[in-house]
Amino acid sequence: VPEGPHNIASMISSQLDPRLVRLLKTATSLADRRGWKAYLVGGAVRDLLLGKSTFDLDILVEEHGLKFAREYARLGKGTFKIYRRFYTALVIFPGGLKVDVTTTRSEEYPRPGALPEVVPASLEEDLLRRDFTINALAVSLNRSSFGRLIDRCGGRRDLEEGIIRVLHPRSFRDDPTRIFRAVRFQQRFGFSIEAGTEELIRSAVSIKMFEAVSPERLRRELELIMKEPHPARAFAAMARYDELRFIHPDLVFSPAQLQSVERLEKDCRWFKKQFGGNGLSAWRMYFGALIWPLGAEELEKTGKKFNLSQKVLKQLVRAKRDEKILSGSLSSPGDLPPSRIFSALEKLDPEIILILMSRFASSRARTRTKDYLVKLRREKLEISGQDLKKTGLLPGPRYRKVLRRVLLARLDGEVRSRRDELALARRLIDKTRND
Ligand code: ATP
Repeated sequence: VPEGPHNIASMISSQLDPRLVRLLKTATSLADRRGWKAYLVGGAVRDLLLGKSTFDLDILVEEHGLKFAREYARLGKGTFKIYRRFYTALVIFPGGLKVDVTTTRSEEYPRPGALPEVVPASLEEDLLRRDFTINALAVSLNRSSFGRLIDRCGGRRDLEEGIIRVLHPRSFRDDPTRIFRAVRFQQRFGFSIEAGTEELIRSAVSIKMFEAVSPERLRRELELIMKEPHPARAFAAMARYDELRFIHPDLVFSPAQLQSVERLEKDCRWFKKQFGGNGLSAWRMYFGALIWPLGAEELEKTGKKFNLSQKVLKQLVRAKRDEKILSGSLSSPGDLPPSRIFSALEKLDPEIILILMSRFASSRARTRTKDYLVKLRREKLEISGQDLKKTGLLPGPRYRKVLRRVLLARLDGEVRSRRDELALARRLIDKTRND
């Protein structure tokens, strides 16, 4: 971060998308007209100072945030949703641009880890309730002081020095999820966690602060970590601070695990390049990989606790149980008919297959798995249920069986045309009739 004036108006206009700049200008005129004080806060200010552009705007308004949100939405022809309990609102503008609007507030924690009681407060108090100094910066949006940086906690210096630092010693006690946020920002920016803050993390972990936090809140923070480009390093940092025990008391993250999750990151990039990135759930994939070392039973319990869907959990446990068999058959030397590769993996979603693949030591097994993902799983038949109907076979579960058998034959090159497929389907149907 270059040492600059205490005004970052020029960074706003040069780094932000012009549509966002226009939205901020609208905020300025609204706040001025009504005599309210409005600020840009949080991640956007941090990212601007780091020279990055950002799409997530948080606007903080003294006292009148909710009224501001309503009028802001009207001026920008958008819609808004109010979360009254937290004095916050989400304004959605045409084209999908979103701005969070909050009223300055401070938080009181009835007990460690519980959701805070929220009370209105001044800007200063609002900045002091935040997680780290680098996130406790504000920029004035009113015209007379537009762009003025408000830095009560030394956030700018910590940004320059690359340091994650809490604002006060009770921070992790108030909200233990910040233990995970610290690791996320540390990994994302390549920062270090300040020694005092590190001590506080260790002591919060040792007194098992996390037992007070619901799995839902913990999951939300974990999901954010898994959306970062390098979750593997964050997992290693979580292990170093002994944070994994809050997921499961026996969970470890060995160097071998680190290696396979790093490979998973690469494979995931490869997959996204092949298929345009749609449909992969980072959460399912990386959470599955993280809890993989637990035995099948504990894996299932932990998955349930963090609300993995039944379907994903079933696949995960199945893959875990069959890992050795799958790895053995997929790495076998000599020819392996495509139909065998298909049968080995067909019941698993790509996320689970990628976890398995990242764990296969044999390059033959990896190549075959890639072949499944790229080609085999997308192979289609030329015939369909309609054709089976015409043969007089009554619709039912046999349709699926017959079509699957024809598909396996097609994968192995035994049938090559619609006529072949139909002939094989007929033979199979006759056979089931005779059986
Ligand atoms: P990202 O770039 O990942 O979106 P962000 O800093 O914008 O990072 P958010 O989770 O969107 O993160 O939060 C917005 C702001 O709200 C943060 O910058 C921080 O000031 C504050 N905040 C969020 N979560 C907490 C928390 N658990 N405790 C205290 N302050 C928080």
